[in-house]
Amino acid sequence: MDNQKDVNDIEKIENNTQDVNTCEQKTSFNIDKKLSELNPNLSKRQLKKVKKREKWLERKFELRLREREKARQKRAFARANNISLGPSRKALKRSTMAESSCKIGVTIDLSFGDLMIDKDIAKLTKQILRCYTLNRRAVAPMQFSLTSFGGKSKADMQKHNGYEHWDVKFHAEPYLNIYPKEKVIYLTSESENIITHLEHDYVYVIGGLVDHNSHKGLCHKLAVQAEIRHGRLPLDKFLRMKARKVLTVDHVFEILLRVSEGKTWQEAFLQVLPERKNAQLILPLGEKGTSDTYHKNTDVLHTNIYT
Ligand code: SAH
Repeated sequence: MDNQKDVNDIEKIENNTQDVNTCEQKTSFNIDKKLSELNPNLSKRQLKKVKKREKWLERKFELRLREREKARQKRAFARANNISLGPSRKALKRSTMAESSCKIGVTIDLSFGDLMIDKDIAKLTKQILRCYTLNRRAVAPMQFSLTSFGGKSKADMQKHNGYEHWDVKFHAEPYLNIYPKEKVIYLTSESENIITHLEHDYVYVIGGLVDHNSHKGLCHKLAVQAEIRHGRLPLDKFLRMKARKVLTVDHVFEILLRVSEGKTWQEAFLQVLPERKNAQLILPLGEKGTSDTYHKNTDVLHTNIYT
């Protein structure tokens, strides 16, 4: 009986603190609700969309509460069993981009919002969230930014409360207005140049596009038009893959992060790429296929710039 009372008390305290956080969210939920009531002229499709959002907002509160409770239990279990849950919050606070020893820049080019349906924009947002989490948990985070951040991508990101406070640089302008042209390298699987190593003070651009191959070669075409350097990851040097070699934004980001941490390309590919790609090693791991091994002139990104 007493136990039950304790549990209730704890829940009450937790609910009180959560109330403060959810207050803001509820306001936006109520505004949405009012909108649909005040706009009886909405088409069936628009109304369905508004209703879907209302439902989602309602559900979001519940999910958040459940997630917090789960995380609390996980922490308690780890404490009781001496299990490490990775870097502490305190350590993560110190591990910021400004303090980082890694000066490799990575930006996601978000200029493709109009080419994606809402579902794919949501997928892209999830991938960006994952990039952020990976970078935030890294001992030496890369210099991470989002460029052409606006329109649909921004609207979708706004579903994630507090994103403005993330340790990420948000730029409404395109990457070419932010970074010197000669310091930019566009990553694209269609490039004939192979990236052999990552360079500090360069900015690697990842195309913010989830297109299921419907805009094949678009980023490559744009990079050639803009006369900037471009290159592809050295996947075919290390892995025999049955599936196509176009990776998702978060996979590309994580591979860059692992290589920036000192892993070889091969190690990074094996760690990051999911099994469904049927990746097979070309070299055994023992033979160190380091990023410098393939530094032949024909392969080096910087010898062949605008082709
Ligand atoms: N059709 C799109 C594909 C988007 S995939 C295009 O035109 O690029 C998302 C992004 O991940 C790409 O724009 C590219 O920046 C990066 N990417 C995916 N696979 C890659 C690879 N093998 N090498 C380098 N970059 C890659």
